[in-house]
Amino acid sequence: MAGQGLKERHEKRYEERKDVYESKSAVASGELIVLSGPSGVGKGTLLAHLRDRHPNLQVSISVTTRQPRSGEVNGQHYYFVSTAAFEAMIERGELLEWAKFAGNYYGTPKGPIEAVIASGQRIVLEIELVGARQIKESFPEAKRIFVLPPDVAALETRIRSRGQDNEGAIAKRLAQSKVELAAADEFDFQIVNDSLETALADLEAALFS
Ligand code: 5GP
Repeated sequence: MAGQGLKERHEKRYEERKDVYESKSAVASGELIVLSGPSGVGKGTLLAHLRDRHPNLQVSISVTTRQPRSGEVNGQHYYFVSTAAFEAMIERGELLEWAKFAGNYYGTPKGPIEAVIASGQRIVLEIELVGARQIKESFPEAKRIFVLPPDVAALETRIRSRGQDNEGAIAKRLAQSKVELAAADEFDFQIVNDSLETALADLEAALFS
């Protein structure tokens, strides 16, 4: 009788979480994945394709004080907040990690990450180097992936072709890129974003290894 109850419970649990179990994104326990790399390397594009292929893969939505770029939606690309609101979040301990990048604050809200981990799914944090280092401290088991450009000139081309940053911001981002590239070896996996298909395949191999 007890055995029967256990089987039923397992079947019920399987039904409830079928989508997760049957997806390649399923994990036995919660797992944090950090995707990092210099501005303009194409992390966002890679992530968008990854989400198309693995709809169950969760992606963290960061909070930032940066102005929205055209086409960016509050609550979808970022939560856009004032500096005062961001600093209040820091004070209240609501961020898992945070950093200042090119003159603006960026941070990962704690609540949604804890909820996803508790549910046994994976969640990807697309964050810069300082934040990635904080995650390594607080979650040493997190998988950390670094995306490299085929060459440094490609970064500037991408940032400029985005047409969304002024000269001052571009200069800050390029200067920061050098610092970030020098830290690529700190990460568990390095992926070169040369051809999209190859980079995606490498990213999937790193994620689901
Ligand atoms: P962008 O302004 O181009 O959207 O982002 C600038 C940089 O901030 C990128 O390297 C991006 O990965 C990083 N970033 C975005 N969200 C976060 C976050 O929550 N925390 C940290 N530390 N970096 C973030």
